[in-house]
Amino acid sequence: MATTKKKQTLPKKKSPERRCVGCQGTFEKRDLLRVVRSPEGAISLDFTGKKSGRGAYLCKNEACLKKARKTGIIARALACEISPEIYDELEKEIKLGAPDEE
Ligand SMILES: [Zn+2]
Repeated sequence: MATTKKKQTLPKKKSPERRCVGCQGTFEKRDLLRVVRSPEGAISLDFTGKKSGRGAYLCKNEACLKKARKTGIIARALACEISPEIYDELEKEIKLGAPDEE
């Protein structure tokens, strides 16, 4: 016997959505990885969503990362070169976020 708990749609703060540069899908910010270019031109990953600078978002999908790596779409979005280390970091994050694998 399941307790029928009424699903309440609380007028809670709607989490902001951003578009993934890979699949063009929109996701909640916390489901995306943010690559940010600081005003100084340094590229880094932003896990807080608070770093200042120009950002590009990628969803936690390996296909999107592969696509981004291949097409350089993040580089284009940020008008800046992306070093392989950044992609490696993104890959690591995506894999961490996929607990399905063993
Ligand atoms: Zn995507």
